[in-house]
Amino acid sequence: MKFQVYRFNPETDAKPYLQEFDVIVERGMMLRDALMEIKRQDESFAFRHSCGEGVCGSDGVNVNGSNRLACITPLSEYQGDLVIRPFPGRPVIRDLVVDMTQFYAHYKEVNPWLMRKDALPEQEILQSPEERDRLDGLYECILCGCCSTSCPSFWWNPSKFRGPQALLTAWRFLADSRDQATDQRLDDLEGPYKLYRCHTIMNCVQACPKGLNPTKAIGHIRSLMLKNSI
Ligand code: SF4
Ligand code: SF4
Repeated sequence: MKFQVYRFNPETDAKPYLQEFDVIVERGMMLRDALMEIKRQDESFAFRHSCGEGVCGSDGVNVNGSNRLACITPLSEYQGDLVIRPFPGRPVIRDLVVDMTQFYAHYKEVNPWLMRKDALPEQEILQSPEERDRLDGLYECILCGCCSTSCPSFWWNPSKFRGPQALLTAWRFLADSRDQATDQRLDDLEGPYKLYRCHTIMNCVQACPKGLNPTKAIGHIRSLMLKNSI
């Protein structure tokens, strides 16, 4: 199988280019296996990866125009050449490695932890099974960034729009019966950009390797904001 791979080393290259690699594809191979083979062929090739099990979220790349997590992307899904690029809309550090600083900053800005007004009890804060069920589809995010870096609103407003990952996380805590900072969380998202820059294009939903739905979470936040304003 032929791979056209984005290459750019800012220390030596005037501009990015695509380099072709041939990889013999065996049954069951994932895209990450092919990238490791490419690394064996050319040691200077750079890409991030770690667990290889779809858990650490570090090997997100753009494949033929769609963001995918390389370790859980079977090569059997593709026919013909593959074009592998870094995540769109992020500054390239080298080859497939992009700068995710802004992405993590937005995550931090939504206060991704429980905030309480009451004193913490001596033991755990109990939830009913129904309250716990509300967190399904929200807590599983692995912070891979496939969603936010496929979102046109995030490309155009990376410092102002929180992006689908951070907004999914905001809803994960708004939806948590143990959290007591609803007003503060909603106030933090006021304004034309942080939340409302989402235009429901749903690229984020298509890109998420964990099957999560940031668009739906964003819709829940909007509804709650509306409810609390009347
Ligand atoms: S639905 Fe909203 S958050 Fe998701 S890709 Fe579209 S604009 Fe971005
Ligand atoms: S919502 Fe999905 S695509 Fe976005 S960071 Fe989390 S796991 Fe990755």
